[in-house]
Amino acid sequence: MLAERYERQIALPEIGEAGQARLLASSALVVGCGGLGSTLLYCLCGMGVGRIGFCDGDVVSASNLNRQFLYTPADVGRKKTEAAHKRLRAFAPEPTLEPLDAFVTPDNAPSLVSRYDVVLLAVDAIPARLAVNHACVEAGVPLVDAGVDGFHGSLFTVRPGKTACLGCLYSASAPEQPAVPSFAPIVSVVASLQAQCAANILLNLPNPTDGRMLLFDGAAMATEFVTIARNPRCPICGK
Ligand SMILES: [Zn+2]
Repeated sequence: MLAERYERQIALPEIGEAGQARLLASSALVVGCGGLGSTLLYCLCGMGVGRIGFCDGDVVSASNLNRQFLYTPADVGRKKTEAAHKRLRAFAPEPTLEPLDAFVTPDNAPSLVSRYDVVLLAVDAIPARLAVNHACVEAGVPLVDAGVDGFHGSLFTVRPGKTACLGCLYSASAPEQPAVPSFAPIVSVVASLQAQCAANILLNLPNPTDGRMLLFDGAAMATEFVTIARNPRCPICGK
């Protein structure tokens, strides 16, 4: 059953039996179970990552349903992690699923991220992204950050000690963003690319977003890479 489940990806020369074994022995943490998190979690379960953590302190609302494929109208008002756990368990019985019904904070981020091989950031708020970034830089855990705003998306991989980090890019005093417009096709494209970055990292394949920000323009269906230099005055990685 297991071998058959993964046969179409084992057929990829970049994966093969050895790569599949590696994925099954690996772990990933998804921070945020919204639009990006929904597609990300399905991709991680689908590819057979062996242990998958996911955290979110929110409940499902009706305005989530246009893009957050983990949830149905019957889930409105339920805890996201609880509904996601049920749906993912039905989709893929094999991975160890580790839900955490909490928002990420500077207090809980260090103990959370250090237990995983790769961390995927799928939240809007800059302070939460910086807290996770700080913990990942300290623990040496690779981090893939993604963001969407309407028809636009971005993707960036932090390799602690080697590339720029989110602290080189964003300021802790950045003004709070209002709820951004979100459209399912764009959110899913960006989350799928983010899942591919996770696969690249776990399988030790070339990862084009290491230290380079991928900008996706969904209206033009165009991509562009921007190299991000390390900031020697970065409060997190500049020491
Ligand atoms: Zn930095």
